[in-house]
Amino acid sequence: MRLAIYLALLTAAVTVLGPQVHSWEVPVPSSTNSPTASMAASQTSAAEVTPSWVKDSVAKMERELVAKYGELQRARVQRGLQQVAEFWRAEDGDAATFEDFVRANFAGDQVTLDTMFNRLESLLEQLGGHMHEINREFRQQSDLDLGPVLPFDEIIGGYDPSAHVLDDFFQNKLAFGVLLNFPLTRLDQRLQDGPSWSRRQWAEARLAQGFSKRIPADVNLGIAQAEAQAGQYIAEYNIWMYHLVDAQRQRLFPPKMRLLSHWNLRDEIKADYADSSGGLAKQRMIQQVMERIVTQTIPAEVVNNPAFDWNPFTNDVTTAAAKDSDTATVPAAKPNNAREPDTRYATLQKTFFASRKADPYSPTAPTLIARRFNEDREIPEARVRAMLEQVLTSPLVPQVAKLIESRLKRPLEPFDVWYSGFRPGSQYTEAQLDEMIAKKYPTARAYQQDIPNLLMKLGFSPERAQYVARNIVVDPARGSGHAMGAEMRAEKAHLRTRVEKGGMNYKGFNIAVHEMGHNVEQTFSLNDIDHTLLKGVPNTAFTEALAFVFQGHDLELLGLPAPDARSQSEKTLNDFWGTYEIAGVALVDMAVWHWMYDHPRATPKELNDATVLISRDVWNQYYAPVFHKKDVVLLGIYSHMIDSFLYLPDYPIGHMIAFQIEEQMKKAGSIGPEFERMAKMGDVTPDLWMENATGHPVGPEALLAATQSALASVGGGR
Ligand SMILES: [Zn+2]
Repeated sequence: MRLAIYLALLTAAVTVLGPQVHSWEVPVPSSTNSPTASMAASQTSAAEVTPSWVKDSVAKMERELVAKYGELQRARVQRGLQQVAEFWRAEDGDAATFEDFVRANFAGDQVTLDTMFNRLESLLEQLGGHMHEINREFRQQSDLDLGPVLPFDEIIGGYDPSAHVLDDFFQNKLAFGVLLNFPLTRLDQRLQDGPSWSRRQWAEARLAQGFSKRIPADVNLGIAQAEAQAGQYIAEYNIWMYHLVDAQRQRLFPPKMRLLSHWNLRDEIKADYADSSGGLAKQRMIQQVMERIVTQTIPAEVVNNPAFDWNPFTNDVTTAAAKDSDTATVPAAKPNNAREPDTRYATLQKTFFASRKADPYSPTAPTLIARRFNEDREIPEARVRAMLEQVLTSPLVPQVAKLIESRLKRPLEPFDVWYSGFRPGSQYTEAQLDEMIAKKYPTARAYQQDIPNLLMKLGFSPERAQYVARNIVVDPARGSGHAMGAEMRAEKAHLRTRVEKGGMNYKGFNIAVHEMGHNVEQTFSLNDIDHTLLKGVPNTAFTEALAFVFQGHDLELLGLPAPDARSQSEKTLNDFWGTYEIAGVALVDMAVWHWMYDHPRATPKELNDATVLISRDVWNQYYAPVFHKKDVVLLGIYSHMIDSFLYLPDYPIGHMIAFQIEEQMKKAGSIGPEFERMAKMGDVTPDLWMENATGHPVGPEALLAATQSALASVGGGR
């Protein structure tokens, strides 16, 4: 997400989500009780040494402030001085400046402290909200389906007006004012003490966290640019399916079908289960395409180009023998199959290089990996890994696999990680759904107008449905779609969805419903929460989980029958299988980032080789025993791995959380009011949020238990 600094100021929550999730380089929640001087000496400008006079000035000001405000304020005085001293650099001023500042800015009584808190909360909402507004406008051409993206559009899309805000606030000393008066906290404190904090204490903790890092603006700008470039690379990575040919030079896919990697390719595999005659051949061909993308043996010329026919098995490229698009660029040279030159991995590496520049300024979480887990997710990496492994090694996996084989009447093939036969709505073909939806939603506007009805079908009262709908704007997306929440109450959330020329199709609808879930969460957790400093949810997995709840009801929203008990078992099995699939993908993402940190001087080709190896290893450990095939690289296909800065672990956690939440919704009887109650808890730690929502901490147990009984009820397994 572009709003690095804004988020740093306001909250740990992340707001821009969706299949095309934007990453964010949020210098947010952190401990930060470690002195600046402890930063690695080899790190250049971050290794500022606290000026030598600071210790004396701190002692002097402690005496002075306690004398003025009383002994009861001593603990606050000590903490505030310590926090200011940690970030004070020589360029911030001499001893007299430091002392004058502290004297003037320490809020020594509750009334002043309250005033300061309230005013800052309100002003930071305004700042973040308007910065976000600018960002959204500047990214409009890149994000929306508005015609060609010119080079300058990319520049402006990569620009982040908030990049200098935190710097400015250290320079004008607003940051020191916050650090002097509000407590910095560590993750272990928040985990341990958080449950007994008041809402105000939580809001103060999030306020201070916004100032717990002092990352230079140029570093944040570099991250934003790398992210924008990666997003662009991904958003234009289409495969023209009509131009895939098999050994007999037959075309398996219809004209004009253009699938965005990897989302649309994966979804086409899922849809092909409904095609009993030709589906299997199509699925095998798509798997072959995906593997060539992962290994970068895909011919560069066939990427987003309908001018060539391509046999992904032999890798032969020829001039297109049939035309299905006016946009085909006339081949300049003879067709050739020169491979894509590791662009995929060079792009990923650029996000790593940019992220790594922030490391020296983040002493308590000195890698992007640590920032993701300890700060953004607020669940330690080891615990996340354990939850993933608990699913991957569950004895339920081979049981469900056996059930799938019995339904497919053939041994599993690797692409069956995307098996979609558990879907409650699979009695409809995708074509039927496409037709139904295109009629209902010929334009993005038609979808927008239907939002209140959709929300009422989900159990929201007419009043709440209208209220939320008024806060959502639907835009036509360039990519597969995403949700962009507002950052201040005067602004609206944006739902970006892809509408093809003939109207919305099922894929687009399914994604739009997911993104609408994000928008509804974003609206409640911003507009209806007690403290805007606590707006949002604990981490992205939660907003994903809430979005999955919506997405899981997409067929009902079309007026198709609500799933019966058997269908619900099918849905549970689908969730379980999906979690099993994405848990491995998440482990690949995690291992790739560790590899990049271990090999900072690697070439893109070396990163390519490493990713292929990692994908194979994870496959061999957790999937080969079930699929009876080794060395498959499919787990490396996810586009998020390239442009989303270690985001993928949020998906399996999201499934687990979704399951916990869905179970709670069932208990409550209706989605709407319960969704609103949960979304208004805001940005506390994940376990605390989940305890409040469901009575249990985050974990896969609910999913596993339900899978067990679902297996029993559909009579599979054993
Ligand atoms: Zn999402």
